[in-house]
Amino acid sequence: MKALKKFLKSIFLLELLQGMRVTGRHFLTRNPTTRYPEEKTPLSFRFRGLHALRRTPDGEERCIACKLCEAVCPAMAITIESEQREDGSRRTTRYDIDFNKCIFCGFCEEACPVEAIVETRVFEFHGEKNTELHFTKPMLLAIGDRYEDQIAKDRELDAPYR
Ligand code: SF4
Ligand code: SF4
Repeated sequence: MKALKKFLKSIFLLELLQGMRVTGRHFLTRNPTTRYPEEKTPLSFRFRGLHALRRTPDGEERCIACKLCEAVCPAMAITIESEQREDGSRRTTRYDIDFNKCIFCGFCEEACPVEAIVETRVFEFHGEKNTELHFTKPMLLAIGDRYEDQIAKDRELDAPYR
């Protein structure tokens, strides 16, 4: 019986017709292809892209050099060195992220007690050599300065979920 069914199916090209039916159903619907980079898809406020170091509104670095982000990073992508300032506060003298290693897990962002290290919506970056994906503290601060408005808005949207 099974063999007969199979035979009839192949004689009447039923599987082919079933496939054509699926093709026909989608033939006149809107093409879902996005023409990147001219067109962009929406991004979540929780998007985990390029990292940034933030400042307080008075321009001071938020980071207090607690090194929690460095400790929690599963890829060991963060390297921090720090020293105490004359006013007694502790600040980093070196804050590097090696994006050759980073897996964009977001643990550093979650661990930070002062919302200093964050991940932005920026994903359009690349490096042609390993060294070009090695971001230093001034580079990370510059990203923070440039995207602070968007970062602050995203943090606000995320606040109810934290
Ligand atoms: S996102 Fe994850 S892997 Fe990348 S630096 Fe942060 S903790 Fe490390
Ligand atoms: S970025 Fe945040 S978690 Fe990392 S050292 Fe600075 S204050 Fe600590």
